[in-house]
Amino acid sequence: MRRTGALAMMSMACVLVALATGHRASEDLPPVVAPDPVPSDAIVLFDGTSLEHWQHADGSPASWIVEDGAMTVKPGSGSIHTVPVLQSAQLHIEFATPAEVQGEGQGRGNSGVYLQRRYEVQVLDSYENQTYADGQCGAIYKQYPPLVNASRGPGEWQTYDIIFTAAEFDDAGSKTSPARVTVIHNGVLIQHDRPLKGVTGASRFGESSEPGPILLQDHGNPVRYRNIWYRPLETE
Ligand code: MG
Repeated sequence: MRRTGALAMMSMACVLVALATGHRASEDLPPVVAPDPVPSDAIVLFDGTSLEHWQHADGSPASWIVEDGAMTVKPGSGSIHTVPVLQSAQLHIEFATPAEVQGEGQGRGNSGVYLQRRYEVQVLDSYENQTYADGQCGAIYKQYPPLVNASRGPGEWQTYDIIFTAAEFDDAGSKTSPARVTVIHNGVLIQHDRPLKGVTGASRFGESSEPGPILLQDHGNPVRYRNIWYRPLETE
């Protein structure tokens, strides 16, 4: 009892100090997240061993190739998407375009990360490879070119860290706030809080208040992916 009382007094003292100094009370301290090897509050979508969280559009299990801690696009098998669906989120994903360079322009190392299956952040081998600006690696496809080309070479692992804010809709279904995307490519800011103009070209899924999965595109090139996780974000 005495210990409980002492704790209560200490707690009250903290609140009084917080009030007196204008600081937030200790009760407002943010939760602790251990950052390594992935954030402790992250939802892992691919850990290098299985595609259990992925499927094709028809609901069949994802048939892409898993080996050496990575998954590889199986050309012609179709795109795959996550079983979990998400709204606003922080997403981490790593990719590597083929080490053996084949094709050019949009035909070289093409894939894509679709947020909510609606908005494509382009994946392409853009290392010394010319194509249209809003279709190169890191573009919000046909909406925004990346601010800079931070691409590594063919076969090298690259990172995307993406902050996605879902679009908002009123009760009648009218959009009141566009989806927004920030992309950091290999540690370099390439898209800064871009308001999206709608779904990107190749998406068959219209905008709505419904959450959606992450989709990885089969564009016919054996692009590899690994270490994929996200953290749901609360928006106010
Ligand atoms: Mg693509």
